[in-house]
Amino acid sequence: DKCTYDENQTQKTILVGDSGVGKTSLLVQYDQGKFIPGSFTSTVGISFTNKVVDVDNLKVKLQIWDTAGQERFRSVTHAYYRDAQALLLIYDITNKPSFDNIRAWLTEIHEYAQKDVVIMLLGNKSDMAAERVVKTEEGEKLAKECGIPFMETSAKTGVNIELAFHAVAKELKHRA
Ligand code: GDP
Ligand code: MG
Repeated sequence: DKCTYDENQTQKTILVGDSGVGKTSLLVQYDQGKFIPGSFTSTVGISFTNKVVDVDNLKVKLQIWDTAGQERFRSVTHAYYRDAQALLLIYDITNKPSFDNIRAWLTEIHEYAQKDVVIMLLGNKSDMAAERVVKTEEGEKLAKECGIPFMETSAKTGVNIELAFHAVAKELKHRA
């Protein structure tokens, strides 16, 4: 609660979802406030970005981890999940398979992540209205079935990105 939350504690937050859904672009937009078109698949490895989010006058330190290509081979290591406090599960609203794979990602998450991990479902690329193949209601329905919050975001325009990370930070603070 408010009196016991430790502001020095770092909350490991990880980005999960199929290759190409916009995980790296989301993080770049959140961190640098810009959109750099093109994929970020050249470097292999896992990197992180530190962000401090103000929640009700308290600082929540997020350490946000991004994979670089491992998701393509489903070789995201189980250690990646193990010590995560929060997880953004992302699909692309213009890519049906990326949405259909959310259940498979959830199965993996339930197998390897901590039981009380904070999860949020994001439908990214909301700026691409003409190419949309996953309806907003489908995302909402899936999220409701799985008992997790949901938002549509755009790494291009930045819409809902601050809001999504703020919601995660708020939930982390409440669970502490
Ligand atoms: P990752 O593999 O999940 O890390 O996805 P990337 O961040 O590399 O993005 C894959 C492709 O989608 C790149 O060409 C990005 O420029 C593009 N992209 C990512 N997010 C968005 C978005 O919100 N809107 C649009 N229009 N393109 C995006
Ligand atoms: Mg990436």
